[in-house]
Amino acid sequence: MADISALVAEIAARMAALPDRGRVADYIPELAKVSGDHFGLAVITADGTEHVAGDADTCFSIQSVSKVFALVEALGSCGDRVWDRVGREPSGSAFNSIIQLELEQGRPRNPFINAGALAVTDLIANRTDSDGSGIGDILRLVRRLAGDDSIAVDGAVAYSEAATGFRNAALANYMRAFGTITGPVATTLDVYFHQCAIAMSCRQLARAGRFLAHGGIDPASGQAIVPPERARRINALMLTCGHYDASGEFAFRVGLPAKSGVGGGILAIAPGRASIAVWSPGLSPQGNSLRGTQALEDLAHAMGWSVFNPDV
Ligand code: GLN
Repeated sequence: MADISALVAEIAARMAALPDRGRVADYIPELAKVSGDHFGLAVITADGTEHVAGDADTCFSIQSVSKVFALVEALGSCGDRVWDRVGREPSGSAFNSIIQLELEQGRPRNPFINAGALAVTDLIANRTDSDGSGIGDILRLVRRLAGDDSIAVDGAVAYSEAATGFRNAALANYMRAFGTITGPVATTLDVYFHQCAIAMSCRQLARAGRFLAHGGIDPASGQAIVPPERARRINALMLTCGHYDASGEFAFRVGLPAKSGVGGGILAIAPGRASIAVWSPGLSPQGNSLRGTQALEDLAHAMGWSVFNPDV
């Protein structure tokens, strides 16, 4: 068994020396203020040991990683009704693409592109039996999963995205015309912008993802978060759709279910082995963390953690 702590430290050192860091997202003005020099990595193995390096305890905007938690919340309250409005196919197009929606009658390909996430969030934001605000429900789930009540929404990021989120507004309005979104568009967008603006550290994110590595059960609390079949399915979606039009490339290089966000974070799951969170704000052209992907490739390779390995 490799010494994971030494490996995690070694990868962080290697990433610090990497000259190509990609481009920090600037279409959300508040995200453009974040330094591209940050790098954090947290690996939590099945026994609960936490191996961290770099800025693993610095909070960042989880952005589209929140789409995993919103999906868990929506499946929990609406069950398979989620699949009436969103598909389960890789899109092969950009995360904020509009054109595919018109060609496919307003039904988003999957819950991890923006259109699909908006359709999922609409279910949470506008459900009739909700006893709290939609963002409150998502935040409660994330806090419970991470075992940390200090996790909060970064109000400046939420405001910044709401002020500039014209594409998301277009997607949501367009889906409202098809009935894919049924509630007030403004409410759905408000919850979506706030869920994307949840701020977490790598350590918190890795803790929050542990249930996906362990058949739906959070080993920290022993609680069943989702049934085993649902955990398997969410992992399948993360593997096939979690990196948008770079999902195939990510599976090829890393071989793990994972979800990225334009804040530069990635949550990756090594089923049965570990929950991993990495953060480096510079992005690839497809909007996925450049050094984060490299770090995961190095880690998965060194540990033999690809889901396609025969011994996993
Ligand atoms: N909040 C971002 C957006 O809607 C999330 C996109 C992402 O992280 N890929 O554009």
